[in-house]
Amino acid sequence: MQVSGEMKRKKIVVLGTGGTIAGTAAQAGDNLGYTAAQVGIEQLVAELPALADGGCELFSEQVAQVDSKDMDFGIWRALAQRVAHWLAQEEVQGIVITHGTDTLEETAFFLQALLDPAKPVVLTCAMRPATALAPDGPQNMLDAVAVASHAGARGVVAVCAGVVHSAFDVQKVHTYRLDAFSSGDAGPLGYVEEGGLRLLRNWPSGQEGQAQAAIKIVASGAGDRSWPRVEIVMNYAGADGRAVRALVADGVQGLVVAGTGNGTLHQALEAALLAAQAGGVRVVRATRCLDGRVLPKAGDVLADSQGLSPVKARVALLLALLASAH
Ligand code: ASP
Repeated sequence: MQVSGEMKRKKIVVLGTGGTIAGTAAQAGDNLGYTAAQVGIEQLVAELPALADGGCELFSEQVAQVDSKDMDFGIWRALAQRVAHWLAQEEVQGIVITHGTDTLEETAFFLQALLDPAKPVVLTCAMRPATALAPDGPQNMLDAVAVASHAGARGVVAVCAGVVHSAFDVQKVHTYRLDAFSSGDAGPLGYVEEGGLRLLRNWPSGQEGQAQAAIKIVASGAGDRSWPRVEIVMNYAGADGRAVRALVADGVQGLVVAGTGNGTLHQALEAALLAAQAGGVRVVRATRCLDGRVLPKAGDVLADSQGLSPVKARVALLLALLASAH
């Protein structure tokens, strides 16, 4: 949909994937009993005239329409292809992606690790449905377009409640609050204030383990079933390793363990993970702590997650296995 256009205006592409930002409820006062992913991206953009008045040309495209709890590899592949397509167009200044909050951090990291874009790719969302008395989606979309239009912006970021987060650090930390995301120890990348960006640190760039082969595989349309199987297990009192053995017997190719504290593991769980690793399963040790990172030390027998949360370490391992399998 062409919302407005002029020769010299910046072009921002808005890709819709669903989420609460596109959700509807029977009652305007109901912020819980709604159905996510109901309103099309064209309508969301059209209902926000301020977007078209903001000095950029907007183009919208529906890539998916899901509650992001149901995010899958097929949608990730389609999204990566559309993002890569639009980024390659010279006239496109940046991309905004509307997304559910539940798995936003995974999609953000997936796109950063895969594409490391030299232009901005801005994910945004809402904690209240579009039909709410006071929806948060419209302001989040305005803020996201402001960030995508910002001169010098690059990399994958998330914008929610006026806060800009890097794809590397963003995590959903609250089940209900409008300001549901945190960048943990790293702190926010910046703030959007009345359409202006107050930048606090550098834009995200690069990703260790980012592989050209993985980009080609995702871009070439390898089916969902050809993606490696990587699961997450956790350390806790009484963790005995049986879940690990069951996963190995079931053909898992990679395991991320959300360890306690600095990646510590119950000795029974560690024994099961070492046996899995000896049998050819890739094992990565992250932490279940919200802040901080696993700090490696001499004698570690399992690789650490390089500061990535368990869900992001899983994405990194997926891409690494994809690349090594082809
Ligand atoms: N379940 C929703 C989703 O992730 C929650 C949200 O968007 O806030 O799509």
